[in-house]
Formats: sequence, structure tokens, C-alpha cells
Amino acid sequence: MHIQTAAVQTLRDHEHGAVVPPLHLASTFELDPETADGPYAYQRGSNPTRAQLERVLAVLDGAEHGFAFATGMAATAAAFSILEVGDEVILSAGVYGGTYRLVDKYFAARGLTPRFVEDLGTLTDDDLTERTRIVFVETPANPTLRITDLRRIVELAHRHGALVIVDNTFMTGVLQRPLELGADVVVQSATKFLSGHSDILAGTITTNDADLAARFALAQKALGGVLPPFDSYRLIQTIKTLPLRLERQQANAVAIAEHLREHPAIAAVHVPGSFSEEEARIHDSQATGPGAVLSFELAPELDRVAFLRALKYPAYAVSLGGVESLICHPATMTHEAMTPEAQAEAGISQELLRLSVGIEDVADLIEDLDQALAAAR
Ligand SMILES: *Cc1c(COP(=O)(O)O)cnc(C)c1O
Repeated sequence: MHIQTAAVQTLRDHEHGAVVPPLHLASTFELDPETADGPYAYQRGSNPTRAQLERVLAVLDGAEHGFAFATGMAATAAAFSILEVGDEVILSAGVYGGTYRLVDKYFAARGLTPRFVEDLGTLTDDDLTERTRIVFVETPANPTLRITDLRRIVELAHRHGALVIVDNTFMTGVLQRPLELGADVVVQSATKFLSGHSDILAGTITTNDADLAARFALAQKALGGVLPPFDSYRLIQTIKTLPLRLERQQANAVAIAEHLREHPAIAAVHVPGSFSEEEARIHDSQATGPGAVLSFELAPELDRVAFLRALKYPAYAVSLGGVESLICHPATMTHEAMTPEAQAEAGISQELLRLSVGIEDVADLIEDLDQALAAAR
């Protein structure tokens, strides 16, 4: 089954003939008095609607097991909950700000050693120790769209007995399937493309490893950061249009990147693979498209605030992946926790803006960008 068919057809209520799955809101479920058992017991542990969503999540990622959480950060925290005191995690210094905060401000105080590296692409055997438990990867990276070779990281990590966790939020299983490249776990902020309408917070974990799956089920039950039934139902519905939305958003993003690259008021445009031919080759070998997020640098003589004020369509807001275009300034909005030096090292300049492209008509988006660039001169 192709992914657009799977997104629509995985859940059909054959019992009632309903074309959409039922929404079960029950917090608790009747049990057998003799065994005190049943298919469901209490909503936090599992419930029929969340279980249905989790099946779709697994199908989209080519996984055996799927888990839905209240936010992307709850999913990442649950993934990290497998760590023990003394374990080491390797991450890119430019990792998503919330993940940086989780590791640096929370887990570091509880016996975990985070190791932030400038570029996961340059990681070698010498960087991994017997303590290294997880290598955490985002590719493309945010907001630079730099690419990491997933196959290489998997080989390196597994050689040292470490797990590879990929944050696949920017790609989704539609464009990139890290588990098929050997990664152990995929986490995603479903708040972004999976939801796609900027009105749900949710997170996901998928894996093919039964032992890890048991630990993530425990994390759901023990830590409790689960996705409620109503939001689970809404995600089931939004996922039906995910491949369709992504196709349109990606086509718009490609057209905008091409237009901006020729524009005299733009100093640089960043998309997956634009950093080097090697990164382009790697991205093409592990993903089927560039996605719908790009970043660009205004020419130094332009007034950034005037540009942002003049824009009619992209809202000036954090987040990404929705049908509405959004634009943000990473240096002050998403990566403000980094020191200026760390930002410079990670390629996040004051002139850099990140654009999440929606499904609007691309002619209107390009016209809007052009008039705002003219106003910023
Ligand atoms: C938004 C985001 C997260 C966190 O997700 P929330 O749903 O906001 O908790 C994690 N990783 C990436 C790459 C993100 O963009």
C-alpha cells in the first residue's frame, strides 16, 4: 500500500461500517472480575482511540510499534527515560531548543552526561565511549537545513553499542524513514506536519525493537504524558491529508527557494543539500524530498523588522508544518538560549530567517515576499 492510501485506509470501522474510526472518551474500562483483566483498563495505560492512532503512526514510519504523547517534548523525554545514571548522549549543538533544554537543564542534573558536538557529520569512533548510550540526530537540522548521514551514524553508533534516535519532525515518514536505514527509534513533534493545522500539540515515538517498545509503554503509563483521545482522533483525521499537504507545501517551498536564490536582496538560501554537493547526495540517498522548511539570509542593507512588518501572509511565529505559512527569526525566537558564539558556530546569523511554507497559492506567497523585500530597502 502506498503511503497516501495507508494514511486514509489504515483505520476503517468495519464493525459498524463507519468510514471514520470511533472516538472513545472513557477514562476507565470494565474488567473481568475473575482475572481483573481486559483489552483496556485505564486511559493513561491505553485506550482504543489512542491505540488506533498509534497503529497509523507505526504504518507511516514502517514500524512495529507506535506511541502517542501529549507533546513532542513528552515523546523525547520518554525516549530519554531509558537512560541511566552515568550514561552519555551525543547531540548536535544546534539541536531543537527544547531538546537542548531537556538534556542540559533537566537530565544533566540527574546523572546524564550530554555531549554537544558542532557537526555530527564529523563524529568518529574516538568520540564514542563505552558510556555512550544514545546518538541523537536531526536531519535536516534546524534552521540551517544541514544534513547528517544516517547510515554512517547508525554504523558508528551500533559499533559502540549505542542507540540512534532520530527526530524526524521536519521530514515525517512520508519523506524519510530512519528505521529502514537502521535507526533504533524515531521521535517526532506531531504538533508540526502530522497535525498540519497549528491547533494540536502532540508527539510520537516509533520503533521496531520490542524491548524498547516495552520501555516506551512503561514511560507512557509511569510518566503519564499521554495524548488524550480527542486529540488522538483529530490527529487520525489530519494524518489522512499529510502526504497531500506535504506535496503541495514542498512544491511551494521549492518554487520559493528558486525565486529567492535569484533575488538581489537575498544573501543566501538554505535548503536540504544546499550546503555542499556531498550533503545533497546524502539527503537524496536517505529522503525522497526537501520538505517544506527553508531558511534565508537578508542582504545586510535590508531592514529585517521592516521586511517582517510588510509581509501579509507568513505569520511571524515559531512552529512549522502547518497549512499556513510561518516565518521566524531563529536568533531571537527558537535558538535564543544559545550564546552568540554558539549561534555563530551553528550558522545562525542575525540576518537568518526561517520560513515554513504552507499550502497557499505560491504566486501569492512570492508576490508577498517580493513586496516586503522592496519595502525593506
Ligand atoms: C517543535 C519541535 C519539537 C518539540 O515538539 P512540541 O510538540 O513543541 O513539544 C521537537 N523537535 C523538533 C524538531 C521540533 O520542531
